[in-house]
Amino acid sequence: MASVTLRPGRERPVQQRHPWVFSGAIAQLRGQPRNGDVVEVHSAAGEWLARGTWSGASQIRIRLFTWDADEPLDDDLFRRRLERAISGRNSLFSQATASVARPVAYRLVAAESDGLPGLIVDQYGDYLVIQLLTQGVATRANRIIQILAELRNPRGIYERSDSEVREKEALPFAEGLRWGEEAPVQLQVQFLSSEVRQGRGGSEPHFIANLDTGQKTGLYLDQADNRLRVAAYCRNQQVLDCFCYTGGFTLYAAWSGASALTAIDSSVLALEKLQAQVELNGINTAVDAIAGDVFSLLRQYRTMERYFDVIILDPPKFVHNQAHLERATRGYKDINLLAVQLLRPGGILATCSCSGLVSADLFQKVVFGAAVDARRDVQILERLAQSPDHPVLLSFPEGEYLKGLICRVW
Ligand code: SAH
Repeated sequence: MASVTLRPGRERPVQQRHPWVFSGAIAQLRGQPRNGDVVEVHSAAGEWLARGTWSGASQIRIRLFTWDADEPLDDDLFRRRLERAISGRNSLFSQATASVARPVAYRLVAAESDGLPGLIVDQYGDYLVIQLLTQGVATRANRIIQILAELRNPRGIYERSDSEVREKEALPFAEGLRWGEEAPVQLQVQFLSSEVRQGRGGSEPHFIANLDTGQKTGLYLDQADNRLRVAAYCRNQQVLDCFCYTGGFTLYAAWSGASALTAIDSSVLALEKLQAQVELNGINTAVDAIAGDVFSLLRQYRTMERYFDVIILDPPKFVHNQAHLERATRGYKDINLLAVQLLRPGGILATCSCSGLVSADLFQKVVFGAAVDARRDVQILERLAQSPDHPVLLSFPEGEYLKGLICRVW
């Protein structure tokens, strides 16, 4: 079996159970592992440290799965980790959840954070959607799918490995139905909000998930609870939802009684789905859905002196690597400054970042910078994070990527 020796001083993160070994930390490789093969990791002093899978093209050369010398990296390990992830999710639901009207969508397996580097599994009612993002799991796809089928007994399992991470792993995109039967085209689900978890969320909005080939599932599960929390500020308010996608926040705002709704996204297709979901949920308040660029539309509103009571900013990931950190934080500063300027005194700014490289601390500084430039007093009312079906493993802080603030702007 292949093994590596780390450079002196590079063993500490591995000993602390961080699951990544970068190519630069490796002093010596013995054997010729193929992608996905098991590799033993030793310290410079020759001590066995951990066991993982090889990925020859990626900067993250080894993903670690176990720190127990006696634990083989085999199907049983995958089964045990999947069982653990499932039991963690089951305990998020109270008994009463069974009474929620529609199937719930949530993250069943959160990759590294669940001890399964590269493997994401989302549950959409009776269906599973998996992403196999690294060589270690992509080369074991069939077995993982088989184990999932046994443990969950789903109607169908889709693969949707279309993330940019696959490119870094020298893996082609892969999508399609991998097991069982096709999902209905209009599969309706609810998000796992804190109310839904306690069986009280039956009236909350529901959403259409397109699991069928080629389409993104289109639902951002990590904001599940945040939509509910933001909605609590929207009653009788004029709400602007920026980067609305298919209207996650818009629908919750409408459901909670917003008096007027404007939603912006660059994707026309997303806005069509938004309108379909407005209808599906029987919402009477018209949603003004605008296809365009948030940056330029907010500038136009500023020129027009068009103001709002609540503004939601849920942009895509702006920061993709450390080198772009500064430029990307300028993007966050820009939209936050514009939003602060467009709020009536006492208005609410709900602002998020899903860039893992932007810490909660840095994000708060960016919003502070926007407040300073706008010469407005801004109070933090609530801090937002990814929902508890996206847990953060202490030994893997990179898994904490979503942060946000609900602020009052005077
Ligand atoms: N708030 C959504 C998720 C947002 S995902 C929800 O709750 O479901 C980010 C969205 O930003 C995507 O839909 C993408 O189409 C859109 N987007 C990216 N850049 C944009 C831009 N410059 N202007 C408008 N929309 C943009």
